Amino acid sequence: MREIEVKRIIEKVRDLCIEANTDLGEDVVAALDRAVAGEESPVGVEILKELKENARIAREEKVAMCQDTGFAVVFVEWGQDAHLVGGSLREAVFEGVRQGYRDGYLRKSICHPFKRANTGDNTPAIIYTEVVPGEKVKITVAPKGGGSENMSRVTMLTPSDGMEGVKRFVVQRVKESGPNPCPPTIVGIGIGGTFEQAGLLAKKSLLRPLGSRNPDPELDRLEEEILTEINKLGIGPQGLGGRTTSLAVHILMMPCHIASLPLGVNIQCHAHRHKEAEI
Ligand code: SF4
Repeated sequence: MREIEVKRIIEKVRDLCIEANTDLGEDVVAALDRAVAGEESPVGVEILKELKENARIAREEKVAMCQDTGFAVVFVEWGQDAHLVGGSLREAVFEGVRQGYRDGYLRKSICHPFKRANTGDNTPAIIYTEVVPGEKVKITVAPKGGGSENMSRVTMLTPSDGMEGVKRFVVQRVKESGPNPCPPTIVGIGIGGTFEQAGLLAKKSLLRPLGSRNPDPELDRLEEEILTEINKLGIGPQGLGGRTTSLAVHILMMPCHIASLPLGVNIQCHAHRHKEAEI
């Protein structure tokens, strides 16, 4: 049994919080480049270029790419042959988030739902743990901004709504969201499972690199169809008009109950942050 000291989890989560908030992934930068090439609106082109410039400054000067540094969503894949020593995983992740948001000068955005009193250190984090074969631990930190999260939805469609119902709901959701989720967005879709699983699938689908294809040909086609419809809406970069309302649509799907068709839509803004590391 491999032993992993709790302090290694703390350090890794700390570093990933800072890295995710300051270093926009190359896949997102490449998607912005492709969008510039395909954008017809001059204002849209300018905004896309500014987003790239913003990402460059954030990376070089190690400052947050957006003032909303998000809720720290942390995915942990824990190898079943690894044993954590020196403390609890939950507390280690929280401490990593505390240190990362403090040392990276990242805004603390988490508060009591009614009193609105800030927790002061950006905890609690949202932790999803999965036990996997092996002795390694993979940690992904995906800070999620409030503006785009607010535009997300989970709904329970009926089985007869089918694929057309999914398309209709997603495109309508993006249309109603307008400029609020800071477009160009990435639209994560979870289909199937249960009420809560559909939302989680939608969020997990956002972790797939931009520009990669869905391994399921039917879902790949559906992603393309929905993206085309979304980009006909004319919302455009930052909602000021144009073709580039979304950079990508990602879908994850699993079987569901015979009476249900759960659907999650997790909208992600252009500050598409996630970093991962293995211990
Ligand atoms: S939605 Fe995204 S880009 Fe807009 S303010 Fe929030 S984190 Fe920043």
